This record gives sequence, structure tokens and C-alpha cells, in this order.
Amino acid sequence: MIVKTAGDYKWEDVEVLAYKETGTNFKNITRQVLFDGLGDLPCQLRYFEVQSGGYSTLERHEHVHLVMILRGSGRVLLRDGIHAIKEQDVITVPPQTWHQFKADGDTPLGFLCLVHVERDKVQLPTAEDLAQLKQDSKIEAFIRY
Ligand code: MN
Repeated sequence: MIVKTAGDYKWEDVEVLAYKETGTNFKNITRQVLFDGLGDLPCQLRYFEVQSGGYSTLERHEHVHLVMILRGSGRVLLRDGIHAIKEQDVITVPPQTWHQFKADGDTPLGFLCLVHVERDKVQLPTAEDLAQLKQDSKIEAFIRY
């Protein structure tokens, strides 16, 4: 099976989907599913693209993300730090780690994200979680929720 590129970070017969169906806070982001689990590899490989000024949901969960940046650059909140990220960087998001990706440069931020097919639901920050995150003024300035 080959998923052929259609150019410009699109793939033949792969739909460009909404990032998420339901009510979390995010902006200017799409999802394409490139692999949906097969045989002894019960994983999904998705390509997300965040347009300049956009961001993913501020969230945590038990399941792990393995992310590789494929396009552009941006920043990511990982637990308690904000990190610049760019093409070819590989980012592991461990269990129960607050994370948010942002395309805060001039370019889109495109990344592959590998997850288990069966995974727990996303947890959004409570008021208490937010208060804790905001104790760091850099994080307070970074996060969108
Ligand atoms: Mn996540």
C-alpha cells in the first residue's frame, strides 16, 4: 500500500478533515489520516497542519504522541517548558503531559503524529490546572484555552 503524495502536504485519496469534531479550543488546524492501523501495528499516523497564528488544543491524556515536524516551524508547550520546534525535530509527548502546538512564525507548522488506535479521551485543563500552569509567566503568555 502506498499513499501517494498529491503535493503541497496533501495525499491522494486522503481527506482533509477538521482537527477535532467537538468543543475544545483550537484555531486554523487540519488533520489527514495517512495510516489507520494494520496487523500488529495498531497505530494511527496523522498529518496535522496548523496555519500561521493557529494552535492545537491545550490538553493532556494517558496516551502517548510521537510527533515529527514535517513542515515549517513553531513552538510547543511540553509540560512545563516552551520549546522552539522545526522541520525534522522529533517530539515525544509522554502520558499526562500538558501540550499545545502553535504556529507562531510566518510559516505553517505541519507535523506527523503517531498514536495508538485505542486511546483515552483528551483531558482539558480545569481552573486549578490553569492556575498552576500560569504560575510561570512565560506559559501564561503562551497558552490558549
Ligand atoms: Mn494530544
